[in-house]
This record gives sequence, C-alpha cells and structure tokens, in this order.
Amino acid sequence: MPELPEVEVTRLSLLPYLINHKVDRATILIPKLRYPIDAQLSKKIQGATITAINRRSKYLIINTTQGSLMVHLGMTGTLTIKPPNTPLTKHDHAYFSVGSHRLVYNDPRRFGALIWANPDDEESCFLPFFKKLGIEPFDPSFDGNYLWHHAHTRGQAIKPLLLGGEIVVGIGNIYASEALFKAGILPQRSAKRISKQRYHTLAHTIQNTLHHAIELGGSTLKDFQHGTEKNGYFQIHHQVYDREHEPCYRCHTPIKRIRQGQRSTFYCPHCQH
Ligand SMILES: [Zn+2]
Repeated sequence: MPELPEVEVTRLSLLPYLINHKVDRATILIPKLRYPIDAQLSKKIQGATITAINRRSKYLIINTTQGSLMVHLGMTGTLTIKPPNTPLTKHDHAYFSVGSHRLVYNDPRRFGALIWANPDDEESCFLPFFKKLGIEPFDPSFDGNYLWHHAHTRGQAIKPLLLGGEIVVGIGNIYASEALFKAGILPQRSAKRISKQRYHTLAHTIQNTLHHAIELGGSTLKDFQHGTEKNGYFQIHHQVYDREHEPCYRCHTPIKRIRQGQRSTFYCPHCQH
C-alpha cells in the first residue's frame, strides 16, 4: 500500500513532466473507483495548464488553470509518466496526454480516487477528506513538544495512536514499527506512560524514518525517464518490520511480532521498553 513517502516520491517524480504543461486530452475508462468519477472530467480538464502539484497526507492535488484534480492511490494505485504511445495495460483506468508524455492512473483494486473540483469548489470538495487529519510530519510545528502535548493524555498504546493519523499523518504500519524501534519505545506502551524526553526522540525518529524512505525512493526516480514504470515504490532496509524471529541488528535478540488492532507490529523485546 502506498504510504506517505511513496506518495511524496510520486509527486516529486511528476513535477518535471507536468508543471507548466497543458493537458491536451484526458481519457477516463471507468465510471468509478472508490467514489464515482466526474463524468465530465475529460472535458473539464482538457486544455488546462498544470500549475502545481501539492500533497496533503496521502492525497495529491494537481492544480490547473481550470480546476484541481485530487488523486488518492488507495491500496494499489500508481500514477506514472509514460511515452505517449505506450499501449494500455490491464487496470489502466485513466490517462492524460500532457506535453510530450502520458500520465497514466493504474489501480488493480480500485480503492483509489480521482476527484475533480472546479476553481470555486475546491474547499467544499476536498476539505471533508482533510478535516480529521493531523499535521504533516515535516510541518515546522511538529516536534517532541507537539507529540507529547497531543499524546500524553491518551490511554491508547502508542503504535495504534500514531497509525490513526489524528495527531500526525503519514506514519503507516511499516514506518510506525521502524520509528518506535529507533526510539527504543515498546509499541504496546500506553501513550500516557511515555516521558516528554522520549517523545522528543520519537519525533526525530519519525522524521528520520520518513525522510530516509523519501530519499531512497528519490534515488529510483531516474527510472521514470526511461519509461520503465518503476513508480517510486521501494523497500527501506527494515530494522524490525517483517523480521519476526530474525536477530535484532543491535542486540541479536529475536524480533517479535504481535497483533495490534488488525495490524502486525514488529519489535525487539530487549531494545524497546
Ligand atoms: Zn534489540
């Protein structure tokens, strides 16, 4: 599932191909993904010049001179630049001719979203998706104090609390396990039983983990130029995630796996407390 780093890398990968370019033609092949797609989308976006691509949590917002297109990749979505005459592949649901390239939305499970907003409707169309979201992990006001302030009164275990996205967005299952390991915090520890000092450490490890993943994804960007479809999906070198029974890199204790909510959590019972 695309997490914040993958979405950010997708955004970065698209910028050089889309900004200041015109959408000559748009073809929408299915009527709905997670939500119905505006039946007039092709008409509304045709001829528009793309002016910016922004990201809020895992939503990409493509601003144009005629309105804005919000894209969510859902569980399996990709947004890829391809040469203009590339044959369509299975699960290509929409494509846009932009400058001398083609922008293709592919999504086998169709949990993604393409939502159009006319210039005056952007707030009312997009805001409902954002109202429960916490701040961005790279927002200047996100730090240990912020995290402590919002978490230390909560009785919930720290990992599902981070995963919920109400305090800070972008910490998916993999990144939560990794950031907690680096901070030495047990994932099942109650959020109100973590010191302010440790929240400072955690804020740092969250940012480092996400930043590292974005950098790693960024290094795959050159593949885009060759149309090889590698869409910025990448594996960070996990310290604990998906390493059950394997030795901890720090202390050689076997990594443990537990279930929290519906998700797997990985941790080192010796390094994390
Ligand atoms: Zn360990």
